[in-house]
Amino acid sequence: MTRARMPRPHEVAAACRDPRLLRARRDRLGDLAWRAQGRCQTVDPETFFPAPSEPADVALALCRSCDVQGACLAWALDQGDCNGVWGGTTPRERRAMLVAWRSENTPEPAPAMP
Ligand code: SF4
Repeated sequence: MTRARMPRPHEVAAACRDPRLLRARRDRLGDLAWRAQGRCQTVDPETFFPAPSEPADVALALCRSCDVQGACLAWALDQGDCNGVWGGTTPRERRAMLVAWRSENTPEPAPAMP
């Protein structure tokens, strides 16, 4: 098994501007109620976990028409390193998004006490 390489700075910069990531920031929810509204609820779950050599086109097309795409991607990014298609993204696409997500969701350190 090979480890995935770290995303390059230009890939992270592109991820920061990706409309899917922007939607995830906007639609992030504190619970999992969004799951019941997913288009994937009526589809074989295996569709969303294609083998690395298989295309993810069917799952990605379903996600693009899903009303909870943003909340779904936010959940996947909060989980970190998860497999499968979530929120209209592949695991490979989420690697750079995850760096951007974590950098913008990490609180600023508290100022030093005088
Ligand atoms: S975005 Fe895709 S994986 Fe997420 S709930 Fe919708 S159909 Fe399912």
